[in-house]
Amino acid sequence: MAQIKEVTSLANPIVKDIRGLTSKKEREASGAFLAEGLGFVAEALARGWPVRTLVYDREARGEPPLQRVVADTLARGGQVLEATEKVLAAITRRDNPQAVVGVFEQRCTPLAALRPKPDETLVALDRVRDPGNLGTIIRTADAAGASGVILIDECTDPFALEAVRATMGSLLAMPLTRCSAAEFLVWQAGSGAQVVATHLAGAVDYRTVDYARKPVVLLMGNEQSGLPDALAAAADHTVRIPQQGSAESLNLAVATAVMLFEARRHLLAL
Ligand code: SAM
Repeated sequence: MAQIKEVTSLANPIVKDIRGLTSKKEREASGAFLAEGLGFVAEALARGWPVRTLVYDREARGEPPLQRVVADTLARGGQVLEATEKVLAAITRRDNPQAVVGVFEQRCTPLAALRPKPDETLVALDRVRDPGNLGTIIRTADAAGASGVILIDECTDPFALEAVRATMGSLLAMPLTRCSAAEFLVWQAGSGAQVVATHLAGAVDYRTVDYARKPVVLLMGNEQSGLPDALAAAADHTVRIPQQGSAESLNLAVATAVMLFEARRHLLAL
């Protein structure tokens, strides 16, 4: 296959560009992100995520599933590199890299396009800091049947490798939206949804809200400082998950999971 380039050197400019995607600045400038693993890459292609580059380990060359993603990438105008394990290890910063990585274009849904319908649930995260938490929340939102995750103000990047890994593929299925707190407040007022803010000082037990009445936006606070007053005050409900024991609070991703499965309990069935 003539269009496939062989790459063995870390000094190769394409490899340098791909390695640059570990930096947030570079991801923002290029609008791309790195996805690891044959399954993830095949799923991204199947879901129509625009592919720029596919890199695979030359030792895996003959495997039919790999040949399918190579053909698919070329058919969509992406470039394909056949590389050494050393190159893949450098790109992914792992000693035992996956045999396939893909560079895809980032996609986000504009806030104005979010019009929650009955039975829909969105998760809104205020300044989430930890990529592992964000990835876990995206995965959990997907598993609970939520319709999207809104990132308010300066959040950790969902397209960082650590966050992408933690989504376990759910990044591909879950629409993501970014906005400021001011934009969120304007949007929520006209959204027709009920905003359920979670707060350690909430006076309402999270199990007493009628989640079936309207679409739901679950509003979750920053790991260190919790929700700012302006967001908490504008919510329709401010709820607390009752706790026992000595822990001050739940981990953000765990609290989001508890809320999601309660808010969607009437919609989830085996
Ligand atoms: N020190 C922070 C505070 O005072 O809010 C703790 C933040 S907590 C680690 C991160 C977020 O998880 C909170 O802002 C809230 O959204 C949610 N959360 C954690 N435990 C909760 C609980 N018991 N009830 C309601 N929300 C909770």
